[in-house]
Amino acid sequence: MSNNIRLSKKYGVNPSLGICFWCGENNGEIILFGKIGKGQDDQEAPKRALTGYDPCFECRKKWELGVAVLEASEEPVFENQPEIQNGIYPTGRWSVVKGEAAERIFQIDSEENKILLLDKELYEEIGFGGAEC
Ligand SMILES: [Zn+2]
Repeated sequence: MSNNIRLSKKYGVNPSLGICFWCGENNGEIILFGKIGKGQDDQEAPKRALTGYDPCFECRKKWELGVAVLEASEEPVFENQPEIQNGIYPTGRWSVVKGEAAERIFQIDSEENKILLLDKELYEEIGFGGAEC
């Protein structure tokens, strides 16, 4: 892999703004795609692109208030979605639970387990389903 960006004749460095998967806001990252496509086929990069599952500053601040419970599925939510773990795809829904509540509900050590992936059905069952953060 080379770190050099091949410039696009039409679009230059061909930038995309990185978005936070968890809130959909710009996360401050910029991805320079350069030339996409082969030969004369010069494509414009998407305006916004998912850069990974790291929460943005704002989301991280909320997550740090307790334990972040992330709804997850064994099916990708959209085409070509990357896994967050083997065969696990986050849906984008999440809640933050206070440490003591997380310990009671999930029987975890909330100091060590700051992020929980929760199966969709269980997520609904526990009642996060309607909650918006
Ligand atoms: Zn965010």
